[in-house]
Amino acid sequence: MADRECGILYLVATPIGNLADFSFRAVEILQSVDFIAAEDTRHSRPLLDRYDIAKPLIALHEHNEDAASGRLVDRLQAGESAALISDAGTPLINDPGYPLVRLARSRGVSVVPVPGPCALIAALSASGLPSDRFAFEGFPPRTASARRKLLENLSGDTRTLVFYESSHRVLDFVSDIAAVLPAERPVVIARELTKLHESFLNTTAGEAVALMQADSNSQRGEFVVVIQGAPAVPAEDALGEEPLRILKLLLEECSLKTAVSLCARITGARKELIYRTALAFKEGGAD
Ligand code: SAM
Repeated sequence: MADRECGILYLVATPIGNLADFSFRAVEILQSVDFIAAEDTRHSRPLLDRYDIAKPLIALHEHNEDAASGRLVDRLQAGESAALISDAGTPLINDPGYPLVRLARSRGVSVVPVPGPCALIAALSASGLPSDRFAFEGFPPRTASARRKLLENLSGDTRTLVFYESSHRVLDFVSDIAAVLPAERPVVIARELTKLHESFLNTTAGEAVALMQADSNSQRGEFVVVIQGAPAVPAEDALGEEPLRILKLLLEECSLKTAVSLCARITGARKELIYRTALAFKEGGAD
């Protein structure tokens, strides 16, 4: 292999529950590479066996990826080709691989995506909530205070918000959503996607907790929580002419945070409204 040119690193998505969601291309590539870097080799072996993929497996997980990435990229540069897989879904989406991809690219190794299942995209696309603009927030913080602060910061965001959550914390997270966001805000809780007990709970920030408590099964499994964004406020209608003029001036001179705070003090208008209007300006949504 020494005479070969630099190899290729393939990022291969694997099923998130339903094994039939493995693409033909994913299987072909995994059968063709020299080795496979897997988040958990014991977890991936049965899946690979099922598809007659008998390639050497190397562990690449969050505890060794900084150190192991260098050795893997050395092998790619020596001409071997490799695939990265995670336990489920798309590598790097809340899964290991970022140091490897960054290093491979910085050393001129081609990185080729082999797209497929991804829980956030599956949940968002089927949620019935706006999917044209969204923010993926990964797992919420572990403490209630940090979760609530995050939700407060996101409360004016007009994009659909997407979170991953585990069965241990999903009820706590939904309680925080109820505590921070307006009761009528639409929320969809997608559970066990592509699996036998797949379900979508279409609810609101105010009603989600009671609905989940009423059905203990609804707290089992893996979750994606999708929250509709804040209603877009037509800036001119909401703020009024003078506060709007002041906000525009301030945004030219200061950071968004300072502009919002000063505008609230000068005009007496509601901070949340000013914040949303300022965000709309920054994102080019208002003029
Ligand atoms: N890389 C994966 C992807 O592409 O979706 C995500 C990995 S992340 C460590 C695992 C989390 O993704 C779970 O805790 C859950 O929030 C979400 N997830 C993964 N599979 C899921 C499924 N079948 N149904 C619902 N959520 C799922």
